[in-house]
Amino acid sequence: MPAPCSPPPGGYAVKATVVDNMVMRHTGSLAPTLLAVAALILGTVPGCSNNLGVSDGDGIDGEEPFDDGSNIELQGVYDCSERADTGFRNGSRFPITVVSVDARPVEVDTANAYIAMQDAARRDGVNLRIVSGFRTNGEQQYLYGCYVNCNCNNCNLAARPGYSNHQSGHALDLNTSDRGVLSWLNNNGRRFGFSRTVPSEDWHWEWWGNDRDFEGPCGGERAAAAPTSTAPADCPTLPAEGGIIEEDSACFTPGGPTQYLRAVDDANASDGSLIWTGVTAAADAANYGVWWVKPAQAGRYRIEAYINRTYGSSQQAKYAIRHNGRNDLVTLNLTTAGGFRSLGEFEFTTGAAQRVRLDDNTGERSNLSRRIPFDALRITRIDTAAPPPPTAANTCPRVRVSTDGGELNVRPTASTAQAPRGTLPDGSVVDRLSTRQGQEVRGNTDWYEVRQGSLTGFISAAFTTCVQ
Ligand SMILES: [Zn+2]
Repeated sequence: MPAPCSPPPGGYAVKATVVDNMVMRHTGSLAPTLLAVAALILGTVPGCSNNLGVSDGDGIDGEEPFDDGSNIELQGVYDCSERADTGFRNGSRFPITVVSVDARPVEVDTANAYIAMQDAARRDGVNLRIVSGFRTNGEQQYLYGCYVNCNCNNCNLAARPGYSNHQSGHALDLNTSDRGVLSWLNNNGRRFGFSRTVPSEDWHWEWWGNDRDFEGPCGGERAAAAPTSTAPADCPTLPAEGGIIEEDSACFTPGGPTQYLRAVDDANASDGSLIWTGVTAAADAANYGVWWVKPAQAGRYRIEAYINRTYGSSQQAKYAIRHNGRNDLVTLNLTTAGGFRSLGEFEFTTGAAQRVRLDDNTGERSNLSRRIPFDALRITRIDTAAPPPPTAANTCPRVRVSTDGGELNVRPTASTAQAPRGTLPDGSVVDRLSTRQGQEVRGNTDWYEVRQGSLTGFISAAFTTCVQ
């Protein structure tokens, strides 16, 4: 539990984002202003006579969570390791299973759906992030006490302990103040079983869905039951040095209506044959292919897809790479070169749920008659060889922050372990003083020491682009 009257990590403040940030940075010096703003927004008078009788789970759930951005670097990182906790529903306790997504605790079924949704959003260029997930009764009691006694958390409204859907595991507060997030959720959340249940809280989304409608990585029973969640039993492990997975191997799974999956022999295909399908701008994939990557040894691997340009004419083929508990999406213009094309270098464990997936809904209209090929995938171990030469980024005198609208933390060390010294807005350009190896964030271990004005510290290179 946090100390009384200090906001909890990922805690809560009023709706006005700018005010939130100022208050957090000036630690309370603006409290009177804040309360005045809160009063305007809530239509209540500060002073906290609590006669509103609200907050029984499906009413008002609480104020907008303050997005302190502390998990921006860990957006998209999940860990399906399950742990037991105590959930509450209508005031009654029940055992609940919790995993970690975006460095937040989330009930396992909700997490499974959220990760699938986050994957889909990323393909559309939108980065979803959980600001607040599962809450224990102690955490809800803290927030409720703040509201009733008006002595902490800006006296913000909170549901009664035992009655918040953050305690039943169904509710997630998402980063809807980031650009594009709310409209994407409004258009797509329902496909994954997510809906808004509190009209006045556009950040508060609840999952009451059916997990058969999509592929998510978490949940033991479901993962075993769903044929597309792990590699087929007859897919052999990949040798330590890597190997090639052809589309006719047991480690490749085609998906969708078979009449649209055309197997052809072609002299310019790897091994003389491939499968192709046409691409669409549909919301959901009809056809797809999955290459299962089951390394015998954990390590770092380069992944390359073989492109035959006759059957590879999509200009935005999206390869979704699930590796080591992470999801990455790599978009390739297939028309620029044929042969083996690199998708990047990724850490893999020895798990059987890791894969590269290519969907046909690239966003290109079907009347363009563009195609994607399912052919060889080459996996090459690289961490046993000499270290790679310095990348272009290592020569950048300055870098630009690229967070899709979020603020990027500036840390005292090359990890997320310590509280940030400050933040940098999306798009800001800062001097790069040095590069250091640190905590892996979205597959990238580079951290840049940067300076902007009097602020110096480290930012994850995963959220930067080079400025020459
Ligand atoms: Zn909520």
